[in-house]
Amino acid sequence: MRMAKEITIALAGNPNSGKTTVFNNLTGARQHVGNWPGVTVEKKEGTCRYQGYTIKVVDLPGVYSLTAYSIDEIIARNFIVEEKPDAVVDIVDASNVERNLYLAIQLLEMGTPLIIALNMMDQAESRGHQIDVSQLSYLLGVPVVPMEANRSRGTQALLQEIVKMADSAVQPGRFRLDYGRELEEEIAKLQELISEDRELSRRYPPRWLAIKLLEGDEEVVKTLRVKQG
Ligand code: GDP
Ligand code: MG
Repeated sequence: MRMAKEITIALAGNPNSGKTTVFNNLTGARQHVGNWPGVTVEKKEGTCRYQGYTIKVVDLPGVYSLTAYSIDEIIARNFIVEEKPDAVVDIVDASNVERNLYLAIQLLEMGTPLIIALNMMDQAESRGHQIDVSQLSYLLGVPVVPMEANRSRGTQALLQEIVKMADSAVQPGRFRLDYGRELEEEIAKLQELISEDRELSRRYPPRWLAIKLLEGDEEVVKTLRVKQG
C-alpha cells in the first residue's frame, strides 16, 4: 500500500488572473486564512486530496513581477526561494499573455518547478486570440494547462500535472534567459563565488542570486550583509 504523500504548491499570478478562483476550485472549503509572518498581508492556505496525495496549497499575493519594490513581491519570492514548494503554479491570463509572461519568466529564472495554468481561455478566444498551448509549453520548457477557472474547467488536468511533477525528480529547468556576453561573464563570476558558500547556495539558486546582486536588489544585498555579520 502506498503511503499518503504530502506536497506543497504555491499559486502565483498577476492580480485578477483568477488566482482566488483556482485556489477555491482546488481546496473547496478546506481553507485557512491568516497573515504572513510579521506583516498584515493576508495568507490563505488550503488542502486538497488527489490520488493519494495531500496537496497543501498556498496562495501567494498577486504580483506583476518579483523585484524587491513591494512587500507583496518580497513575500511571494521569499516563500519560493526559502520554503521551496514542490511546484509553483503560475496563473496566467490567456487574454493578456504578453504582460503575464513577464512574471512567468522571473519564476523560471528562480529555477522553481513551474506549471503554467493558462486561465481565461474563454476571454482569449472571444478576443480572437489563438494560443498554441503545446508550442508555448515547448518554448518555456514547462507544462501548460488551459483553464476556465470560473467554470471549473481544467482543475483535473492541473492536478494531474501537479502530481506528475511531484512524482518525477526535480525538473532540470532548461529555460535560461541569455543576458549577452558581458553580463553573462559577470553572472558566471558571481555564481562561482556564491557556489563556494555551501549554505548560501543551498538556500538560494546561485544564478538567480548573482542576477539579483547585479541588479542591486536591496533585499538580497540586505540578506547577504546580515549573513556576513
Ligand atoms: P485574482 O485577483 O487573481 O485572485 O482573481 P479572481 O480569482 O478573483 O478572479 C478575477 C475575476 O475573474 C473574477 O470575477 C472571476 O470570477 C473571473 N474569472 C476567473 N477565472 C476566469 C475564467 O477562466 N474566465 C473568465 N471569463 N473569468 C474568470
Ligand atoms: Mg485573489
